Parts: sequence; C-alpha cells; structure tokens
Amino acid sequence: MSILNFEQLNTYGSARNAVVTIGSKSYRTPVFMPVGTRGTIKAATARDVAEIGFDVVLGNTYHLMLRPGSKVIQSLGGLHGFTGWNRLMLTDSGGFQVMSLGAKFDEGGVHFKSIYDGANIYLTPEDAVLTQEEIGADIAMVLDVCTNLPATRDQLQRAMDLTHSWAKRSRAAKVRDDQAQFGIVQGGSEDDLRRESAQAIVDIGFEGYAIGGLAVGESRDDMLRSIEASTPFLPDDRPRYLMGVGDPIGVVESIARGVDMFDCVAPSRLARHGGALTFQGKLHVKNKKYEVSDAPIEDGCPCLACKHFPLALIRHLLLVGEATAGTLLTIHNLTFMYRLVDGARTAISENSLDRYVANIRNAFAN
Ligand SMILES: [Zn+2]
Repeated sequence: MSILNFEQLNTYGSARNAVVTIGSKSYRTPVFMPVGTRGTIKAATARDVAEIGFDVVLGNTYHLMLRPGSKVIQSLGGLHGFTGWNRLMLTDSGGFQVMSLGAKFDEGGVHFKSIYDGANIYLTPEDAVLTQEEIGADIAMVLDVCTNLPATRDQLQRAMDLTHSWAKRSRAAKVRDDQAQFGIVQGGSEDDLRRESAQAIVDIGFEGYAIGGLAVGESRDDMLRSIEASTPFLPDDRPRYLMGVGDPIGVVESIARGVDMFDCVAPSRLARHGGALTFQGKLHVKNKKYEVSDAPIEDGCPCLACKHFPLALIRHLLLVGEATAGTLLTIHNLTFMYRLVDGARTAISENSLDRYVANIRNAFAN
C-alpha cells in the first residue's frame, strides 16, 4: 500500500477536490504551500502559518543542505524538530535553485557553486534523495533538469531525457518508506515532449507527480497549454503539483485544468515590498491615499493584520522600514492564498468554478 493516499471528494470538469493523507497527517487539495526558504517562511513564524490554516509547507533543500547542513537538521529531529513545524512538509530537490544559478549538468549530476562561500559542489540524483531523507521531509522531490524558456527543441529533449534517467535513479535510491516521493514531468512548451515525459515518469511510478519547467519565462497561455498536454497522462488517483506558480490567475486557471498543488515565493515577496493581494486585486499599501485610512487591508479578511491594524499604520511601518510591516503583509498575503484555494474548493463542490475563475481574472487583470 502506498504511503500517500489521495481521496477524491468531488470534481468539476478537470478540477478535483481531494484529501491527501501521508501517515497520520493530511491536507485538502487544491492547496497552496507557502515556501520556507531557509527554515522559516520569511517574516513569519511557524505558528503564524499554522494559525492561517496551512497543513503543508515547502522547504528548500538547496539552502538547507548548504546551511546549516542536513546532518545538523537530522540531529535536531529533522525539519519538523528543527523548524517547529509539526504538520506536513515537502522539500524540493534543489534542482531549480542550481539551475537559476547557472549550474552545469552532465550525465551523473550537476556542478554548482554555493551562494554562501563559493565552494564547488557536485549534486547527484542519489544525493538529493539521501539529503531529503536525512532532513526528513514528508514529500521529497526528485532531482530534475529544468530549462529556461524559450529553449530549442534539442535543449528540451536533452533536459527531458536526463530528467527521466535521473528519475529512475532517484526511485532506486529511495530507502525511507515513510516518505512520499514525487516525479517531475519536463518537456518545456513542446506538447509531444510533455506527453512523452508524463508517460515515462508515470511508468517509473511515484506517489505523486509534478509538472516542472513552467513559470520560467513562457506566457500564461503557453503554461496552461503545457498543463493540458501533461495532465491527461497522469493518474487520477495521485496528486498533481505545479511547481513555482503562485499568481492568483495562474493558480485558479491551473486548478480548472486538474492541478492540485502549488507553491511560490511571490505572495510573501510581494508582501515585503508593500503589495497586498485581495479579492479586488492588488493593493499598493505605500500609496498616499492610505495615509489616514483606518480601514483594514481587506474587509472580511480574518487575518491578524486585517483584524487589528489599520492600513495607515501598516503604510507608516513600511515607509519607515519597520520589519513588522513585512510580517503583517506576509500574514495577510498568505491568508489570501489560503482563501483563494479554499474558495476554489468550495466552487468545485458547488459547480461554480467557471464563475470563480472569471472573478479572479477580472480582479487581477490590469
Ligand atoms: Zn488580511
């Protein structure tokens, strides 16, 4: 029996409402996972994130394996003990970060330099499995080869073939039976490569499947087409995870196409720069018109910031550079992302997802 159980509750078109259970813990999908880059969600505590309602977050293996290192984390009871987060955690393989830092790939693995001290590091698919087993994520991602778009067909083909070979090695290297492992579909913006990649990764067999290599420079329409080219070849009874997508329109449009899981640093990064996400669209808190506003960021938002603090205060804190402004806006934006996918779950069960997607499109079209 699989360590991961995917129980589908109801569907609307390709969209699904489900419960994912791993061991004794579970989360509802569609789900957005906040990103804890270096052992914390930036500007927020594990308690803040749990209070919003999140049941699963993402940790970045790249940063954690360099500092403080997997052995330190393992000695403190793994990521859960080290970070104080006792709900579910997914870790990426580090592949996306090394790619964005200009890494060099060969058949065996990837060469890159540490951003902390410039040390030369060689990471293999087996190392990525072992590191994630040591730090004790509940869901581990395989090491894949992601290509920035646009890319030539030859580049995409080579990245895809290497991704498939590494996926096989990653599955063979897996030891822990209490950890789910997700394979990653590549193929860039070529529909036939997406199909070939989905079939190859499903043939190896994983507890869940990610659609990788998107949100790397292509248009939203191309991204959605690549999702449509991949999902028909992924099994109905396994979660589907679109890596690195967190813009509200991209999330709800992808949910409508059968994606279950998302992660992105954008909502919390935007927060630290003074941008608030609301169901009426993006709000720039530094705007002069909020100088004496006693209104919350968003009426009806249940977050700590909206319940207790007026826009005028948050704007003032931003303008004078107080870190608390970033914390309040991060809590608000993560609450928005939680409500965004929660709203999609409700819309799926009430057969109103089309209207929901149209509303989000209108709010964020500019
Ligand atoms: Zn709020």
